Amino acid sequence: MADVRRNVPRADRVLADARLTEPLARLGRDLVRATLSEVLDDVRHGRLSPESTVETVVRRLPDTATGLRAVVNATGVIVHTNLGRAPLSPAARDAVVAAAGYTDVEFDLATGQRAGRGRSTIAALAREVPEAPAVHVTNNNAAALLLAATVLAQGRDIVISRGELVEIGDRFRLPDLLACTGARLREVGTTNRTHFDDYAEAVDENTAFILSVHPSNFFQTGFTATVPIEQLVTLPVPVVHDIGSGLLHPHPRLPDEPDVTSSLRAGAALVTASADKLLGGPQAGLLFGERDLIERLRRHPMARALRVDKLTLAALEATVTGPTSPVAAALRADVSTLAERARLLAEGLIDAGVSAEVVTSQARVGGGGAPEVTLPSVAVAVDATLAEPLRIGGPAVVGRTHQGRLLLDLRTVPDSADATLRDAVVAASRR
Ligand SMILES: *Cc1c(COP(=O)(O)O)cnc(C)c1O
Repeated sequence: MADVRRNVPRADRVLADARLTEPLARLGRDLVRATLSEVLDDVRHGRLSPESTVETVVRRLPDTATGLRAVVNATGVIVHTNLGRAPLSPAARDAVVAAAGYTDVEFDLATGQRAGRGRSTIAALAREVPEAPAVHVTNNNAAALLLAATVLAQGRDIVISRGELVEIGDRFRLPDLLACTGARLREVGTTNRTHFDDYAEAVDENTAFILSVHPSNFFQTGFTATVPIEQLVTLPVPVVHDIGSGLLHPHPRLPDEPDVTSSLRAGAALVTASADKLLGGPQAGLLFGERDLIERLRRHPMARALRVDKLTLAALEATVTGPTSPVAAALRADVSTLAERARLLAEGLIDAGVSAEVVTSQARVGGGGAPEVTLPSVAVAVDATLAEPLRIGGPAVVGRTHQGRLLLDLRTVPDSADATLRDAVVAASRR
């Protein structure tokens, strides 16, 4: 033991090693030091030889200076909230990097004067949705609702169906969010059925607006009734429509999912949505609606606290104007292409001595929308004991356990990641 102790390299000597110069410049001293002290601990306890110290540090260092690890999403759940919802397109990633330094987010380079924050992003959204008289962007959809309720309904009533008092996740509930703005909720109807008359009887001089919330994470079937926007707008108060998933136009594969354009055409005064669900962009809240309403929201002091970062604005604009997002691609992928990729992946695994089988699978949109829709998909089934080594491997791979096996569903894996996925499974099976 004493010998080992004497042989433990000194930290400052290791840090001076030329092989650590680049990692120190890229990741900073703290991260390298922290990794080094873990490695030295292993050397001290005889789990590693002193000679392997530097190479072990280099191997254990992350690619970037963050604890957030990149994940291959093989769950078949396209918009997976725990995995960061929508992955950004290459165009959106480039836009984030380009905006990361100084940028003209609030500055007009032509005149040298202050300019409207995020104006090019807002213009891009307005071009995509010509039905919208005005657009505003917040930190997320919850912030958009918070702002709308604060500005329009403080001390007044929001009329909402009992069937739409939604919990959005992690115990956060829409009615609680609305109530904390000082608005009163006037609940109408029942859990399963709400009629036009229920709304009509509740609307009076205290009503600020009717809120219609899309049930994006659950599905009601059986003896149910809801009132369409077209009918709600015949009442003499504004209708705010929280569509949830952020589709700007109807989607051919998701006929029951609401979209901004249709909702505005139906007469909604304000439509709110998330940008990181079916739109496939960064986390943000989108508000489309009447010019004077949007202007009131934009000017309220709270808007400053809910405002969106320049990196988000850049990614959002590139998502709206750029090529197909990964979410759109995953929704669109046809089963025969997935089957061919699965066949090649299984073959590669079997060649490497890992038992694997191609199976049909059911992918899902996820908490981001269309809860009733299953998307036909194809997966490669491997031994369930691989689940943990795959999760803690680099890159991390998350699949779905089903009937004692681990399914790697290819609908949520970009085809560019197939080789990475195969290598990760082979590495996990050797661990
Ligand atoms: C997801 C969702 C929200 C919350 O949106 P965030 O962008 O996560 O804040 C609110 N309402 C509905 C209907 C949703 O689907």
